[in-house]
Amino acid sequence: MNNILRIAIQKSGRLSEDSLKLIKECGIRFDNGAGKLKTSATNFPAEILFLRDDDIPGYVEDGVAHLGIVGENVSEESDRDVNTVHKLGFSKCRLSIGVLREHDYSGVQDLEGKSIATSYPKLLGKYLSENNVTAQIHEISGSVEIAPSIGLADAVCDIVSSGSTLLSNGLKEVETIFKSEAVMIASKHLTAEQQQLLDQLLFRIKSVQVAKNNKYILLNCPTNAVDEITKYLPGMKAPTVMPLATEGWCSIHSVINENDFWENIEKIRLAGAEGILVIPIEKMIL
Ligand code: ATP
Ligand code: ZN
Repeated sequence: MNNILRIAIQKSGRLSEDSLKLIKECGIRFDNGAGKLKTSATNFPAEILFLRDDDIPGYVEDGVAHLGIVGENVSEESDRDVNTVHKLGFSKCRLSIGVLREHDYSGVQDLEGKSIATSYPKLLGKYLSENNVTAQIHEISGSVEIAPSIGLADAVCDIVSSGSTLLSNGLKEVETIFKSEAVMIASKHLTAEQQQLLDQLLFRIKSVQVAKNNKYILLNCPTNAVDEITKYLPGMKAPTVMPLATEGWCSIHSVINENDFWENIEKIRLAGAEGILVIPIEKMIL
């Protein structure tokens, strides 16, 4: 089993769907029949283990799984000896401190001597000691947000994405202590073959991620507008410019980055582009 990659992903939860999607987008096919704990890929030397996210860092440290997909929050809190090999860009959230809305909070020193309920005692403890605050950490494993309203703690330290859970429990977010997204973690004891398979997988993941950040664009424009328009469309090497059957007109093909998409589209249109088509890219090999 030295030449197979065992990849641990969350069995059911917020990471599951995107983890499965990423593996599939990398061209790895497998049967994920409901309720399965393990499955083998049919076209790549890999097995997928379906686990609780909290167990994944430990399995990867022990080498039972060679790779794992988890939130950085879980990986950091576990403090396991693993390598974080790539950020995956999904399940973005933050670990924040919340206090009751009516609390007149003026800064982290307000937490001195207070009790804080959390499922993240290590990350919270580190944050408090970095800020020279001594507080009582009350470790609970779920439904942390209700702790202040039932008198269990003065504050909470929990995962937040929109903040609506805090709000609906009468809390306000006062400090962000950690920003998280899904990451790929790897065992420190991979064989040479496994490292090679990991490199192949990372190459595929990066190609999928770059493709998601770019779109293929086609447009027509008067020949005298080509120089102005191509300033906004550098392409992978250079844009393709072809003459149209209509005299004095060209077609330009290129890629456009998602980040400044609307701003550049506007400039291109003002420069004289017509019939602009924008198409998603499935993979991009740079
Ligand atoms: P398990 O049963 O596997 O232990 P869980 O209940 O601990 O699951 P989930 O709620 O499924 O965990 O969250 C998994 C991870 O998704 C979290 O550790 C965090 O990294 C991320 N996450 C949590 N809440 C959100 C959110 N609201 N938006 C985006 N990502 C989130
Ligand atoms: Zn969990």
